[in-house]
Amino acid sequence: MLKISAKTSVRYMTADNEPALFCKPGDTVVFETVDCFGGQIECEADVNKELDDGRMNLATGPLFVEGAEAGDVLKVEIKRITIADHGVIYEGAGEGVTGKALTDEAAKIIPIVGDEFVLNDLLKFKIDPMIGVIGTAPKKGESISTSTPDYHGGNMDCNRIREGATLYLPVNVPGALLAMGDLHARMGNGEVCVCGIEIAGEVEAKVTVLKDCKYKTPFLIDGNDMMTIYSAETVDEAADGATLLMREFLIDEVGIDMHDAGFLLSAVGNLEICQCVDPKRTCRMEVPLEVATKYGYKFR
Ligand code: CA
Ligand code: CA
Repeated sequence: MLKISAKTSVRYMTADNEPALFCKPGDTVVFETVDCFGGQIECEADVNKELDDGRMNLATGPLFVEGAEAGDVLKVEIKRITIADHGVIYEGAGEGVTGKALTDEAAKIIPIVGDEFVLNDLLKFKIDPMIGVIGTAPKKGESISTSTPDYHGGNMDCNRIREGATLYLPVNVPGALLAMGDLHARMGNGEVCVCGIEIAGEVEAKVTVLKDCKYKTPFLIDGNDMMTIYSAETVDEAADGATLLMREFLIDEVGIDMHDAGFLLSAVGNLEICQCVDPKRTCRMEVPLEVATKYGYKFR
């Protein structure tokens, strides 16, 4: 099995990153990832130490997929996510939404017991592992921090990018240069304290290159839903972007009548906030997959 060690990672997504590994379309690759703190918070007192920003939000990779050219779409099938036996969560003054009400900061080590995470003696919940950061390199000449989501993917913090999901990302440079990290054992929509249950782990993903593919990306299929994901300066702009991209997809690709598309989006589409705490905000528009099926539309 092809594998990229967590030791090979990037802090910025750019065409200039040296590939960590070369693979062929159709290959399955394992990405080993550190948590978003680069393992710098090992106990609750570590919150008081100066954290090295260069080790934050690292994305393992990049993976060079042979044959991928700018204008193509990279199909990434998430086959497996395995997480470590404990994670960490943090909040602090000035960070995220809860940070607006704080004057201090705190971190907590979160044990994973069986298929649950343990917040305290009373509160234990099912894990639902997901990938916070996943993206391709942006266009040549651009460099985007792994803390920021954008048209290339990146720090989207979308909790539906999980095992079994298929993510379509734009290819902007030769080889696509896929990188990922920032796993969460679980994260609620919004990620309001600026963290999920941050955790190290492994992702097994199959990559395929699609030529002449018109999907507006990033595009995601998970469970019984398809969704457009859009990042922008504000939640309002991200919400508009995700909705209008899905509308365009429904009309231009699936072949739905213009007004029926709007009616459908308003009646059964679910507009969700992925996160409202990163340098750009991310929203998604979810529509039942059966809509595509009923129109005979087949995903590649
Ligand atoms: Ca994140
Ligand atoms: Ca995170």
